[in-house]
Amino acid sequence: MSAIYSPERLAALKEELKRAPLPLFIGGDFVTAQSGETFAVEDPATGIEIARASAGAAAEIDRAVAAARAAFEGPWGRMKPASRARLILKLADAIEAAAEDFALLETLDVGKPIRFVKMMDVPGAAETLRYAAGWATKLAGETLELSSPGDTHAFTVREPVGVVGQIVPWNFPLVMTAAKLGPALAAGCTIVLKPAEQTPLSAAKLARLIADVGFPEGVVNIVLGLGETAGRALVAHPGVDKIAFTGSTSVGKEIVRTAAGDLKRVTLELGGKSPTIVFADADLDRAIPSAAMGIFFNTGQVCAAGSRLFVERSAFDRVVEGVVAQGRKLKIGAGLAPDSDLGPVVSKVQLDRVLGYIEGGREEGAEIVSGGRRVGEQGYFVEPTVITDAKPGARIMREEIFGPVVCATPFDGADLAAIAALANDTVYGLSASVWTRDVARALKLARLIKSGGVRINGPGGVDPALPLGGFKQSGWGRENGRSGVEMYTELKSVVVGL
Ligand code: NAD
Repeated sequence: MSAIYSPERLAALKEELKRAPLPLFIGGDFVTAQSGETFAVEDPATGIEIARASAGAAAEIDRAVAAARAAFEGPWGRMKPASRARLILKLADAIEAAAEDFALLETLDVGKPIRFVKMMDVPGAAETLRYAAGWATKLAGETLELSSPGDTHAFTVREPVGVVGQIVPWNFPLVMTAAKLGPALAAGCTIVLKPAEQTPLSAAKLARLIADVGFPEGVVNIVLGLGETAGRALVAHPGVDKIAFTGSTSVGKEIVRTAAGDLKRVTLELGGKSPTIVFADADLDRAIPSAAMGIFFNTGQVCAAGSRLFVERSAFDRVVEGVVAQGRKLKIGAGLAPDSDLGPVVSKVQLDRVLGYIEGGREEGAEIVSGGRRVGEQGYFVEPTVITDAKPGARIMREEIFGPVVCATPFDGADLAAIAALANDTVYGLSASVWTRDVARALKLARLIKSGGVRINGPGGVDPALPLGGFKQSGWGRENGRSGVEMYTELKSVVVGL
């Protein structure tokens, strides 16, 4: 098999990572935390430490916010939209030019198969930035006709919200960093970004490129650190105008409580327990692999993963057997192995969580039809797992597992309201997938499902043009699309008496 990556480059990167703790990027400088503290970064395929990172905390957040404010009031605030767009485009080009390094770092850090990282994560990050860059020159207000007495000229303008704190999770570190940075920069904001402590490598690399392509100092600051120190300090900081967060619903709720103190703006992209609904008339040859990859892709560590599978009873056995077969076909292995389909979960904590949910499901009377066990003793690998007979109230049916675990349930009849009620029986509302050849049925169901997105007959993945976000406890606001950029603006109404 031909090499999918350069072993020489991998060896050089590993050496580089060992040399010194990853620095923070504040005000254009690469610095270490004043406390001198560091934290470990490990390869989830082995559990072995591969790097250390400087652990930023309140003092570094303070400096980063000051740098971001100075850039906002200074050069970035004065820069024309077209010049902002050009810098964002240059960053996208720089990511592509360093694609091999990003692919290796992301694979080492997250554990995901490198061929997917090369196919999706790295080009996805560049394309996400390019899409956002286009909005810099297209954001605009409106001219309005007022009904109040008097002769007036009324219009709205969109202004950047200011200094934004962005908190990124560990499942798609590079793409999500791009999806946070691009829209905020296009809108004219300045940024303090905190990557997840499990996966800081690609953000640390990106900081180098941000410095190289010529963003004014302080426009983007990247503070590595723990959630409970750096993350909390960022959310609580009075100099931050908005927090954009992706991660768990519990941390999302804490952020809302903290942000209530000064009513800073908050957007949240949180968890899900998304339904995949398969009718017996669907093209099952496509629906089955799609339902399987909808939960097994990225080892189930996807906010929109289809973790509840509802199948019309007459097709239930065939679909469940098909998903089980797809799961068994997947080659479990380290991300750097060229033939891996399924990498490890990101950490020991996550492995224990996933296995704990499966065990809990068993205790609550569900049947583990396939999978359910840890694979090997080194690294954090877990089998693709298919569960049936889980009761609607069981924790595995209600809580986000964030692993390759799907609960399958049959349904009867053609009562769409009843089917939607099954799909909607969750506190979450991020995504849903519907499979049927009956277009009217699919569209009616799409209206009844309470979620930020509905996919009919297939197309998966995230697109920078397509708004992403949740109903209910899956979040506030939207990322991507025009709405994702507008979330980084304030709308101002101006009325002129003529
Ligand atoms: P998390 O919510 O704790 O972490 C996400 C990010 O928030 C990280 O950058 C972390 O450092 C930061 N953070 C943590 N505590 C914080 C705090 N108090 N204030 C500010 N920032 C804080 O997620 P986790 O513990 O790593 O994972 C737990 C579960 O979260 C997963 O099992 C999964 O269910 C969910 N999750 C969802 C997504 C998603 O894309 N929606 C991503 C990651 C995790």
